[in-house]
Amino acid sequence: MTLPPRPIRHTAPVLFSLLFAAAFVWNGLPFCLPLPGPQANQAWADGLDKKPAGTPNPEIEETGPRPPVEVDPKLVEEPVRAVVSGKVVLLSEALARRDIKAYPEELRGQVVLETRDGGLLPIIPDWRGRALFQDKRLRDRPVDLLVRQRKSIPHLQVLSIYTFDEKGTRQLTDYWCDICSIPMYEIKDCECCQGPIRLRYQPKNLPADLAPATGQPAPVQPAPVQPAQPETSKPTK
Ligand SMILES: [Zn+2]
Repeated sequence: MTLPPRPIRHTAPVLFSLLFAAAFVWNGLPFCLPLPGPQANQAWADGLDKKPAGTPNPEIEETGPRPPVEVDPKLVEEPVRAVVSGKVVLLSEALARRDIKAYPEELRGQVVLETRDGGLLPIIPDWRGRALFQDKRLRDRPVDLLVRQRKSIPHLQVLSIYTFDEKGTRQLTDYWCDICSIPMYEIKDCECCQGPIRLRYQPKNLPADLAPATGQPAPVQPAPVQPAQPETSKPTK
C-alpha cells in the first residue's frame, strides 16, 4: 500500500524562505548597497562629530594611558561653617519626584537636604547627622542645618539641626535625658542612665556670625582648623 504524496510538509520551509528573502530585500538592501567599506564607516563617524555635544572637558585626554588617580586627602580644602536651608528627605523619594530612576535597594535609608531651589545635598551620617537618617520627625519639614561644608565635596557635615515650630520660631533640635540632664544627638538609650531620651526643641537663633538662611548657603567665614573629634564623640551603637 502506498500513501499519496504530502506536499503540505514543504509549505513551512518555503514560507520561511520567502519571508527571509523579503526581510533581506526590505532591510538589507538599502543599508548594504549604497555604503560599502570603511569609507562609509568614516562618513558615519564624521557625522557623529558634527552632532552637538556637551561642554568639552579639557582635562580629558583623547588617547594614551590613563594617569593614576592619586589624591592626597590633605589637599582637600578646609571646610567652612555654613547654614543651609531646606528639608531633609529620603533620596529615593527625591529622585522619584525628579523622574530619575534608580534601584531602591542601594538607596534605602539615604537622606539628603532638598534645598529651596531644588538642589539635593547628601548628608554624612556621623554622630550629628545620623539623627536625620534615624528620625523621621526631623524630615519633610523646614530645617536650617549648621554644617561644615567643602566646595569639592557635596556632602554636608551636620553640626546642629534647627527646626521650626508652628509659629516659625527657630528651634535648636536635639535629644535630652530628663534624669541626667545631658544632651544627645541621635536616637539611643541615655549614655548615662541607659533610660529613654526625648526629642528636645529649644528656641534659639543661628550663630551670630552666620546670616539668616535664605535657601542658599549663607555667607560663611572660614572655620578655624578644628582638631579631630574625640573618640567619645563617635557614634555608638
Ligand atoms: Zn539619663
